[in-house]
Amino acid sequence: MFDTRPDREAEVALVGRSNVGKSTLMRELTGHSFDTGGKPGVTREPNHYDWAPEDFVISDLPGFGFMSGVHEDHREEIKTNIVRYLEEYADSILVAILVVDGKSVIDIIDRHSGPDGAATAASPEGASGPPDEIPYDVEMFHFLQELDVPTVVAVNKMDKVDDRDERLNELCDRLGLLPPWKQWQETIAPITAKNGQISSLNEAVRGHLHEQQRDDLFKFF
Ligand code: GDP
Repeated sequence: MFDTRPDREAEVALVGRSNVGKSTLMRELTGHSFDTGGKPGVTREPNHYDWAPEDFVISDLPGFGFMSGVHEDHREEIKTNIVRYLEEYADSILVAILVVDGKSVIDIIDRHSGPDGAATAASPEGASGPPDEIPYDVEMFHFLQELDVPTVVAVNKMDKVDDRDERLNELCDRLGLLPPWKQWQETIAPITAKNGQISSLNEAVRGHLHEQQRDDLFKFF
């Protein structure tokens, strides 16, 4: 599993729960439609969009978390594979894009937060909700930071969000970033992938590429 990655020096990787719009975003970024079996949330192997001449690849890792019709053991296996992949290629990953659903992300995080508001990642699995709803998003964000991978949180489906600033400030708070969100434009990028509104993400990604002297890759974003 997960051994389909082309051997490339530089990578941008998309991670996120199932159904947050990763495939839609991948299509926007690459102009290429990947076959996910026709059913949302069933991508179990990474999709790699490979630019050999630039020695660059954009990868869409499988969605994690709840997937209807996928057994829990298999979900765990997918999550483990994602973690291993990120560890193995951390040095090549110039930017990670953590995609979340702007409409539901706060509720999902808070459902699994302790009384002090901290995510209870360390609590026994299932203690604060079904095991398929651990706050992966917060965990994943911190994990990417531990790996020193510059990360942009693409807050998707903003077309469905009315209280935009409030939502984004709450998200900052949950991720341990001091609001207001506008201070974090290289980390928090509200988008509507479905309508092709992804310029805030492109800007944020470019910012991180620039910091790594990779302006040559701007053409992809
Ligand atoms: P994935 O499982 O993360 O790859 O998610 P998909 O790309 O398959 O999208 C899941 C669902 O969300 C689909 O029905 C998409 O049409 C929808 N979706 C994706 N992006 C947006 C968006 O920006 N706004 C809204 N309202 N829906 C979106």
